[in-house]
Amino acid sequence: METKTDKHLLRGGQFLVKETSCEEIFTPEDFNDEQKMMRDSVKEFVEREIWPNKEEFEKKNYALTEEIMQKAGELGFLGVAVPEEYDGLGMGFVSTMLVCDYISGATGSIATAFGAHTGIGTMPITLYGTEEQKKKYVPKLATGEWFGAYCLTEPGAGSDANSGKTKAVLSEDGKYYSISGQKMWISNAGFANVFIVFARIENDKNITGFIVENDPDNGISFGEEEKKLGIHSSSTRQVFFNETRVPVENMLSERGNGFKIAMNALNVGRIKLAAASLDAQRRVTDLAVKYANERVQFDTPIAKFGAIKSKLAEMATSAYAGESASYRAAKNIEDRINIRLENGNSHAEAELKGVEEYAIECSILKVACSEDIQNCSDEGIQIFGGMGFSADTPMESAWRDARIARIYEGTNEINRMLTVGMLVKKAMKGHVDLLGPATAVADELTGIPSMEKPDYAELFAEEKEMIAKLKKVFLMTAGSAVQKFGPQLEEHQQLLLASADILIEIYMAESTILRAEKNAKRFGENEQKEQIAMAKLYLYHAVDTISQKAKEGIVSFAEGDEQRMMLMGLKRFTKYQNQPNVVELRNIIAEKLTAENKYCF
Ligand SMILES: Cc1cc2nc3c(=O)[nH]c(=O)nc-3n(C[C@H](O)[C@H](O)[C@H](O)COP(=O)(O)OP(=O)(O)OC[C@H]3O[C@@H](n4cnc5c(N)ncnc54)[C@H](O)[C@@H]3O)c2cc1C
Repeated sequence: METKTDKHLLRGGQFLVKETSCEEIFTPEDFNDEQKMMRDSVKEFVEREIWPNKEEFEKKNYALTEEIMQKAGELGFLGVAVPEEYDGLGMGFVSTMLVCDYISGATGSIATAFGAHTGIGTMPITLYGTEEQKKKYVPKLATGEWFGAYCLTEPGAGSDANSGKTKAVLSEDGKYYSISGQKMWISNAGFANVFIVFARIENDKNITGFIVENDPDNGISFGEEEKKLGIHSSSTRQVFFNETRVPVENMLSERGNGFKIAMNALNVGRIKLAAASLDAQRRVTDLAVKYANERVQFDTPIAKFGAIKSKLAEMATSAYAGESASYRAAKNIEDRINIRLENGNSHAEAELKGVEEYAIECSILKVACSEDIQNCSDEGIQIFGGMGFSADTPMESAWRDARIARIYEGTNEINRMLTVGMLVKKAMKGHVDLLGPATAVADELTGIPSMEKPDYAELFAEEKEMIAKLKKVFLMTAGSAVQKFGPQLEEHQQLLLASADILIEIYMAESTILRAEKNAKRFGENEQKEQIAMAKLYLYHAVDTISQKAKEGIVSFAEGDEQRMMLMGLKRFTKYQNQPNVVELRNIIAEKLTAENKYCF
């Protein structure tokens, strides 16, 4: 059933073919009082409990992680996404994002423990559990009395998650399953009370999910803590199940439904992982600004050097862009969930379908934000110079901690390929009309370009036109690749990866511009001078990336006249009428940062 709001809400992936006005997007400046209160209390918790213990986290103090998680539970942070009837706070999706965001700033260890527990450790029960299962487990998990972990990966089953060898055998009396197998890389394994375990029954095509209580007398044992590059105080162990008896009533959802559970849990996990890189970026930028202002070389604070200004500006821009896109998508998800609730869906159904609708955006954000925090922390080290390489400064651990985000919750390669694959599927189902716009672009390519001189007087007029043109680049290149290869396109991974990069840059750049535009309209262009500069700077890079990736695709799969025509189209669709002054943009941003001596956006 469609409601009025339903019609106005973009479907997942539709951003590519529909124009969005700045009034339609939600931005961090739109947080309501409840959301601001939640943000401030998480920030206060991080400053009081986590940041002062930074060194301890680097010394692999797993007990401290458990202690902090318990305190987070006492304050209600673990139950933000859990409905009130199961002792959670039952807050909206945006608030749940906020907690992941602001808890991530101090150390990746807590961000991982938090994400593994609240996301993949608890959510499968909240969303797929029976009423009895929810009543039994969720209140304990929501309050931090118990902790959860998620056992999907195995030595032979990583990205190919449905290929696990762990077996679940039904007992002769039909009362329990006996689970045997080896799971690896399990976050929170060292202190979890309950595991979501995926195992195969007989020779089923798909795996099945089970809720398994931790009991050493029930055939459950652990490997040593893994020696990891980063997230040193996040407990990561192998978990061995040796004929572990699990009552039949602990099966999650239905037999063979485990892969679906695993994938849906990951959709939520991905957007929340994006959020969990945001405060990490803010903190790294903030520390870099302060250091650059203090550190004097050649009788000059290094913040005054163009080389450092450029880095600071780029770091702040990536954080701002990440926020813009993450909260835009989060609010779309929240609205979609609310529409479904109004239409009579249960909480679980509404949440599952609401997030699934935006699975493309979830993957886009996971990739973009995980790579942004990596680059941001890398430049953070560079600004600190030799001190950045020292474990005595927080840059070193920020850089190491950032690295995992490109690997878990589906590697960035897998997520990139998923974005394009999901979009093509949505088009085939008729959820997103790609064919119409792609045909229009093809016609435009053979037509005569307009000679009209556009009017760019309004703020972002040229930038918004550029976004529309970049969408045409995607439709042109990906569209003809789909035509050429059909279902075999999935075998052409390098083309998929290039297409994904185009898609990612479009979403991130558009979100950033729309946020800056919305805020310029309400707070004034002068007040938003630096944010406007960030949006323009982000777009400038996006145009370059898109140009390069599209060219890579075109020269690889098109030939002769078709190739020439597409390359000409690419040139036309990536052409600025007025090139931005990139150095000036960076200087505007950096000067504000250094004047405020903090990340101030
Ligand atoms: C610190 C940490 C914590 C983790 N926590 C958990 C947890 O709590 N629970 C859990 O279940 N798992 C967890 N994981 C596992 C994690 O999700 C996997 O490591 C990840 O999914 C990748 O699987 P893999 O390591 O087997 O790599 P592989 O799948 O072997 O991938 C290796 C490389 O090949 C690429 N690749 C693989 N398949 C393809 C393909 N089809 N096409 C193109 N490229 C491909 C990958 O992108 C990657 O670059 C954790 C891992 C780490 C390191």
